[in-house]
Amino acid sequence: MDREVIVAESAGFCFGVRRAVDYVYDCVQKKEGPIYTYGPIIHNEVVTEELEKEGVKILDPTKAIPEHLPIGTLIIRSHGVTKKRYEEMLISGHELSDMTCPFVKKIHTIVEEHSKQKETIIIIGNKEHPEVIGICGWCHEGRHEVIGSKEEAEKFVAGANEKICIVSQTTYNYKKFQELVEIIYKKGYDISVINTICSATKDRQAEALSLAKSMEAMIVIGSRASSNTQKLYEICKKECANTYYIQTIDDLDVTKMSKIHSVGITAGASTPNKLIEEVQTNVRNEL
Ligand code: SF4
Repeated sequence: MDREVIVAESAGFCFGVRRAVDYVYDCVQKKEGPIYTYGPIIHNEVVTEELEKEGVKILDPTKAIPEHLPIGTLIIRSHGVTKKRYEEMLISGHELSDMTCPFVKKIHTIVEEHSKQKETIIIIGNKEHPEVIGICGWCHEGRHEVIGSKEEAEKFVAGANEKICIVSQTTYNYKKFQELVEIIYKKGYDISVINTICSATKDRQAEALSLAKSMEAMIVIGSRASSNTQKLYEICKKECANTYYIQTIDDLDVTKMSKIHSVGITAGASTPNKLIEEVQTNVRNEL
């Protein structure tokens, strides 16, 4: 039986992640003293384990830089950090390499400027995500809130003259963002909405949706810890019941697809190309 296997063009590393990961590999090649990443450089254990074997140390992103850490290169990942942490790093004595994605940096600037104008900042996103924690840390004193569900949006109450600025986590689902903004908007407050969802995410989600509509099975590759991969999985699963979420080829039971004529493959922003190619090759050969 002839089977079609299509890999989404937008599958895998986005610009911001590629920039950060390539930078760490460059540092490894130069081997100029210890290299530290503040948290895993990406949500992908295969890559981080490979880097750890090369001597790259991952620092705990919930804590300050340890005081007696041998001086080396300190790398901020694409998620960014809070302003407080950034300033601590600048005076830590380490060589600081800021690989915060420029799209995330833009949100830091927006929330900093708007909160300086005494506006309330609403960040639509997941409050536990490091990018969102970082964004919160660029809001000046005053009110800022993270909203990630309909219930939270419905509960939100603002004062009479409160001005509100709404931004989003870059990897948030666009439809969900619109839904939550709509709920807040209907309350009649003075609101400015700045859509800060990254187009890499939108494009990847749109392509996954259209593939899932036309394929009999979908494979979504990425770490369980990656929120953008989880969202891709949700989108595909809604359209295509035979959607499989895998981290590596070992998680895929190809026998489940023996009667499938067409398979679409997509992958989260932190999935390396070589993993995607490996899955593609296996699916083509095994089916
Ligand atoms: S998803 Fe977009 S904002 Fe996030 S790191 Fe990638 S390019 Fe940057």
